[in-house]
Amino acid sequence: MARKNGVDLDIKGVLTKLTIEDLPIKGKKVFIRTDFNVPLDDNLKITDDRRIRSSLPTINYAIDEGAKVILASHLGRPKGKVDPRFSMAPVVKRLQRLLNKEVLFAPDCIGSQVENLVSRMKDGDVLLLENLRFHAEEEKNDEAFSKALSKLADYYINDAFGAAHRAHSSIVGITKFLPSAAGFLLKKEIEYLKGVVENPIRPLVAILGGAKVSGKIGVLENLANKVDKVIVGGGMAYTFLKAMGYEIGDSMVETDMLDMAGNIIDSLKKNNVKFYLPVDCVIAQSIEPGAETKIVTSQEIPKGWRGLDIGPASVKLFSEALQNAKSIIWNGPMGVFEVDAFSRGTLAIAHSVADAFALTIVGGGDTDYAIHRAGVSDAITFISTGGGASLQLLEGKDLPGISALSDKK
Ligand code: AMP
Repeated sequence: MARKNGVDLDIKGVLTKLTIEDLPIKGKKVFIRTDFNVPLDDNLKITDDRRIRSSLPTINYAIDEGAKVILASHLGRPKGKVDPRFSMAPVVKRLQRLLNKEVLFAPDCIGSQVENLVSRMKDGDVLLLENLRFHAEEEKNDEAFSKALSKLADYYINDAFGAAHRAHSSIVGITKFLPSAAGFLLKKEIEYLKGVVENPIRPLVAILGGAKVSGKIGVLENLANKVDKVIVGGGMAYTFLKAMGYEIGDSMVETDMLDMAGNIIDSLKKNNVKFYLPVDCVIAQSIEPGAETKIVTSQEIPKGWRGLDIGPASVKLFSEALQNAKSIIWNGPMGVFEVDAFSRGTLAIAHSVADAFALTIVGGGDTDYAIHRAGVSDAITFISTGGGASLQLLEGKDLPGISALSDKK
């Protein structure tokens, strides 16, 4: 049960798969697929270790249960070849610090040398395998490679939500050979992202932003008859404004999505869903920092200028629309928030979401970053660790990595 502002907000779990607690892992070898795909700087230093921290509950549980804990992940895009720039070595160091215990490091993720290392593990030991994507077979969901991975363990746990939408060997293929269950992070992601849509505490409001309508169309279609309000900002708002007959100057527009945008508006209307678009915008002739900016109503964007953020009246409107929300899902920034001049709308909405007396769920890397920049992450009920995976869930689609797990009896 989530607690926010002193109230309990009960959302119903909807995971029908085994979880790590259902498996007798004591003294057994457990292969845990994690998402340790952390950002590194030029000196290969980890700049943000949230992805590692997110899997600590699962790893610590397995250690405490006395399992032999084998961790595996991908890191970056080494394109199927060994490349020291994408070694898991920096992760080993950080994991040791976070777990406060020794973490063994395997030079590969399959093969006799790794099997030897595993055979010498004692209960409660932790071993991290080298980058799964040093083998091209991983992304091909190759059967022999999946089998080679499975040889290392008695049980398989998926805690890599950020990769659960990929049908890769360590996500899908391996489950053919081992009893397979969800880790705590995966379970939590499903409970929040599916629970909030399938058993919502109403009013449920979706805030969508980001560059393109095409990237979020599946979410809009799925949510059209499930939410009470939809707020749209960011670049995608201009396609909607244009579909409604507004002049949008040189703002971002997807011409091939205009009909679709019109259909979405109709469908929201039919379902009695309140629909909010920006009523004013911050415009500029170029995105360059220092370029002249103006605030105009959405009806008055001149030729040669483009909308790059929502304006103050839109912030007020959107914030008022959030006032009575009991659940909020937010995915996508309200403007080009990477540039200071166009970041105010997104940061203001971050504050409004954080202040809302509601269960608040944030998904997508950009939105997560905006929440941190606004300094309000502690006030958000749940921040998803997966961009693509969280969108796919909000589209109402199954994730291959979850479907592949063993069913609860
Ligand atoms: P997405 O990955 O679709 O969520 O898009 C995120 C990107 O959308 C960010 O990099 C923003 O800079 C960009 N974006 C947001 N608002 C606008 C806008 N009005 N015009 C152009 N790009 C935008």
